[in-house]
Amino acid sequence: MPCELCNAFENEKSRIIYSDAHVFVVPILHPIKDGHVMIIPIRHAENMKDLTAEEARAFMTAANLAMDAVKKEYGVTPMFLVNGWEYRSQPHLHAHVLPSKTNLRGLYAASEGVVGKIEASVEELTITADRIRVHFSYES
Ligand SMILES: [Zn+2]
Repeated sequence: MPCELCNAFENEKSRIIYSDAHVFVVPILHPIKDGHVMIIPIRHAENMKDLTAEEARAFMTAANLAMDAVKKEYGVTPMFLVNGWEYRSQPHLHAHVLPSKTNLRGLYAASEGVVGKIEASVEELTITADRIRVHFSYES
């Protein structure tokens, strides 16, 4: 079975908010809230412990940048969640960053317990990427 997140770097290229040699940040296709993004290593790894030291540094740098950018755009401190554990649907390591104290997307909340997820539209994903990318500055 092909890994969706291994292909996401190519498939989601137009909506990538940030990337370096090891990781990228992109809006999630099934957002729980507006401003929900994922940090994804480019190389397939299942867990944080599977990353090299350099990849782990890049992963946490991108996560911190995403937290700052989401906070600036949505005005609340974001949540940071690695893999989603029991809710995990992807074998490829990923972290979620999403605004904490904002409303759930209506359609997503109504769909809990129902097979199938509500995808954001291409327009919604592009708007999310554009809104967050504005605040995404990297100073090495
Ligand atoms: Zn993968």
